[in-house]
Amino acid sequence: MNIIVMGGGLVGVATAWYLLEGGHSVTLLDRAPELASEASHANGAMLHASHTEPWNTPQALGQLLRWMGREDSPLLLRPAQLPRLMGWGLGFLRYSRPHHHARNTAVNARLATYSLQRMRELEAETAIDYTQAHNGILKIFRHPEEMETARASSRLMADSGVRHETLSPAGISQREPALADIQAELAGGFFYPDDASGDARLFCQRLGEKAVERGLTLRLGESVQRLHVKAGRLRAIDTDQTTLEADAFVLATGAEAPYLARQAGLRLPIKPVKGYSATLPVGGLEAAPRLPIIDDGRKIVITRLGDQLRMAGTAEFTGYDRRIRPQRVERVLEQGLANFPALARQVDTREADQWACLRPMTIDGPPILGPSGIDGLYLNTGAGHLGWTFAAGTGRVVADMIDQRTPDIDVSGLTLERYQ
Ligand SMILES: Cc1cc2nc3c(=O)[nH]c(=O)nc-3n(C[C@H](O)[C@H](O)[C@H](O)COP(=O)(O)OP(=O)(O)OC[C@H]3O[C@@H](n4cnc5c(N)ncnc54)[C@H](O)[C@@H]3O)c2cc1C
Repeated sequence: MNIIVMGGGLVGVATAWYLLEGGHSVTLLDRAPELASEASHANGAMLHASHTEPWNTPQALGQLLRWMGREDSPLLLRPAQLPRLMGWGLGFLRYSRPHHHARNTAVNARLATYSLQRMRELEAETAIDYTQAHNGILKIFRHPEEMETARASSRLMADSGVRHETLSPAGISQREPALADIQAELAGGFFYPDDASGDARLFCQRLGEKAVERGLTLRLGESVQRLHVKAGRLRAIDTDQTTLEADAFVLATGAEAPYLARQAGLRLPIKPVKGYSATLPVGGLEAAPRLPIIDDGRKIVITRLGDQLRMAGTAEFTGYDRRIRPQRVERVLEQGLANFPALARQVDTREADQWACLRPMTIDGPPILGPSGIDGLYLNTGAGHLGWTFAAGTGRVVADMIDQRTPDIDVSGLTLERYQ
């Protein structure tokens, strides 16, 4: 088949890779001049099956109200966005009920563990270097109550094969000596030995290069403008340069997916949730951490990528505004570095590379994969805060669906059908 993948982020590139493996003739289109230019550019770099809880936790409403309009909060809802978020927001809260949340955590954990296995295979097959580290991930807590809530989720995820160890504050310092200075502030932590980390942009671009060697046609700097659906089938798309026909199309345009889907008469329950990252050079600095760390209370992730330290976080409901707000990046840096007082004294935060982008977040948490209800149009979007972790898994699952093969994992809770 001739297949067009729309979107050259992690999700689109991984899907294109597996479609090529199936013997298809594949074209990948992205409006940006290079792959991984948006959400996949400078994310938290964590491949974390351990962090698969949807963000609409049973505590979400209280947190949203407490933090509304506060520029220094990890979760920021701008009151001006309220009218646009009304329907989606109510659904987001409805899915925060404990039974929905537990179910969707399990759905995500199943996909994540599968995806991390696929990543290992991809790594072995392609020998791509993306500053990966298979050293596990450490999650730290300052308050015993927060740790107890996370313990319940970790138990749930353990059913999907996500192993964890409980650590005391002293155990945390042993695992990651860079945290020794704040040991007295900590209530404890969990260590997830099977998690990994790596630079998503490097991975995406290098896998893209390998895919071109395998025959991928890459059309960069070309924007999809229109989807032509006739008699219930997607037959062609207009780009800003030409019209392209294909036997099948995959919509993997991240946070922009709802906009294009609407032209085909589909309403995807996805909203953009903005996040920030800051990347600092830390080569040769002994006080820098080696292990990837999730600071649960501050909602910040900290990941070592070779000679650099990436800090990422915050969730801002601010529509499609991609601007970098200095106050928000500074908060990420300040909160992240507060875990390493010695390092904070050594680095110059003005050297940090700043980034902001939009996570494509579904109303219930898991991504939307596979048939769209329109012949010829398949979906791979909505991975929210987990698109790096899910990329290989969702790429494989969607390629299997297009090829009419039964995916290796149960896909209930992952297709558009769940909303009907
Ligand atoms: C701050 C932050 C930290 C994160 N940390 C992690 C983490 O640690 N671990 C993890 O698993 N996930 C993390 N994520 C989530 C992850 O980065 C995203 O889920 C993932 O990058 C989404 O990939 P994507 O391919 O769906 O979207 P994108 O990477 O946004 O790709 C979509 C592509 O579509 C293109 N496009 C859009 N519209 C059009 C059009 N009309 N025509 C042509 N092309 C178009 C865009 O140019 C873009 O390249 C984080 C996200 C953020 C924001």
